[in-house]
Amino acid sequence: MGNYIFNRSNNLDFKMSNGGLTVFLTVLGLSGTLLANTKKEKELILWLMEHDIEVRGLGNGGFDVEDMPWDETNFEMEKEFLMKVVMGAKSRVGWDSLDYAPNEELVRANLDNFIELVRILEPENINKNAYDEWINEENVDPRFKNPKGYPKCEKHGIFLYWNGCIACNDI
Ligand SMILES: [Zn+2]
Repeated sequence: MGNYIFNRSNNLDFKMSNGGLTVFLTVLGLSGTLLANTKKEKELILWLMEHDIEVRGLGNGGFDVEDMPWDETNFEMEKEFLMKVVMGAKSRVGWDSLDYAPNEELVRANLDNFIELVRILEPENINKNAYDEWINEENVDPRFKNPKGYPKCEKHGIFLYWNGCIACNDI
């Protein structure tokens, strides 16, 4: 069993254990929440946080980078933002708020694999329907609506998705 992150147009993927995915998303959340300024940047990080296996289920936290909430017009800027987030994560931004020390070597390998899938993603392969479905609240069960105004966890400073903070959920 494993959580696959993939880029289906390029037929590439990589796999993480459940614990590996949680740490990967947590370090992206720590760095990304700190760096996100625009609504789009906040959406990208919040979307990642929703892939918490706590709610997705063990082995079901994976995703396709084509389904991320990209905006085709500003795609290159969004990619650059994400590269900065990965660099921050590699510099251990916010790691001191965690109750454990992530395996740095493993985290770096997963971040490198992820950003490579993002780097090679072409704008024409963005799945625009995925974003429309995600952002259109009429289709979203009230239980699964994210809180308004991008609130953050007081302990970790990570954006709260509809089921809270990915780092707090990881107990
Ligand atoms: Zn937290």
